[in-house]
Amino acid sequence: MEKYKVGVIGATGMVGQRFVSLLEHHPWFTLTAVAASSRSAGKTYAEAIGNRWALETPMPECAKNLVVLNATDDIEAITAQVDFVFSAVDMKKEEIKALEEAYAKHECPVVSNNSAHRWTSDVPMVVPEINPEHIKVIEAQRKRLGVERGFVAVKSNCSLQSYVPALHPLRGFGLEQVLVCTYQAISGAGKTFETWPEIVDNVVPYIGGEEEKSEQEPMKLWGKVENGVIVNAESPAITAQCLRVPVSNGHMAAVFVRFQNKPSMDEIKELWANFSGRPQELALPSAPKQFLHYFEEPDRPQTRLDRMCEGGMAVCIGRLRPDTQYDYKFVCLSHNTLRGAAGGAVLLAELLCAEGYITRR
Ligand code: NAP
Repeated sequence: MEKYKVGVIGATGMVGQRFVSLLEHHPWFTLTAVAASSRSAGKTYAEAIGNRWALETPMPECAKNLVVLNATDDIEAITAQVDFVFSAVDMKKEEIKALEEAYAKHECPVVSNNSAHRWTSDVPMVVPEINPEHIKVIEAQRKRLGVERGFVAVKSNCSLQSYVPALHPLRGFGLEQVLVCTYQAISGAGKTFETWPEIVDNVVPYIGGEEEKSEQEPMKLWGKVENGVIVNAESPAITAQCLRVPVSNGHMAAVFVRFQNKPSMDEIKELWANFSGRPQELALPSAPKQFLHYFEEPDRPQTRLDRMCEGGMAVCIGRLRPDTQYDYKFVCLSHNTLRGAAGGAVLLAELLCAEGYITRR
């Protein structure tokens, strides 16, 4: 099969590096363009990265000699070389919004990691197993932008990619109230232990804006497409407390939940074991075979990648038990840069290709 040509905007950053790495052996996608700020533009990818390579695997050979383009000045040159782009830039929100729309207006689909467009009502924010049907709002977005093939689609914040998937199959029992405490990895702040030594032996009880995102974004994920916009869900009531912990990549969440019609623990475990979504149905290349894995061992899930499931693309759940104030409590976990950031965006791009929203030029 002829591969889709892909560009990465913000390719030198933490998430951008993960995109470059995930694209190395991707069966559908091939990396043809990398772009970043004027600091990196004109250098080869290897020169621009210098000693910033942050992944456990080496820099892909295919990326090393690509010349980095300027993400804001070279839009025409970039969009001419690709079928779509991934976006993960560190700029002001309004600048990112304008930049991503500029790519879309150059008829280039943008699959974004950035939060800038998450609340734009005709931009789908998608966890592919949860709300794949939201991508149909792209038709209305294209009308607004006056384009035929360009659009912006985003993934949600990484913190909620553990507990929203775990709660999703239980919605039929009427989720009423959810209390969640997240224990978030340092890669979510774009950091490693080398670049953030103060985090060793430390917990930081503040991540700017994270509690609001963790409480509100699930409402868009569980919303409905109506008249060309996404109308948010009104329940459950979610309250969140988000902590940064000294862990590289595993985002854990401790969840307490109250239902309108309380299910049994066996019913919950059965729903988790049997849940599968559109990516599994379409057998997308990055889709885990089983999305939700429940552990009976009392000391699981754990945050090391070698203790996660399906290469970090599945959600791990454990310790389901009754609670004295809520109906139940449990713990869940997802990999920040794989499921949460770049990997989740790659899965979304696969969905958009399979459903015909991204096409070859
Ligand atoms: P990062 O490591 O700081 O990388 C930022 C990237 O943006 C670099 O490629 C940088 O290029 C580029 N950039 C900065 N200023 C620019 C400008 N004025 N014009 C064009 N490019 C510019 O950041 P990150 O951690 O990868 O995060 C990137 C985005 O993804 C952020 O919006 C973040 O909120 C979001 N995100 C991150 C995570 C995560 O796990 N880290 C998860 C979800 C979402 P240079 O190298 O040339 O400076």
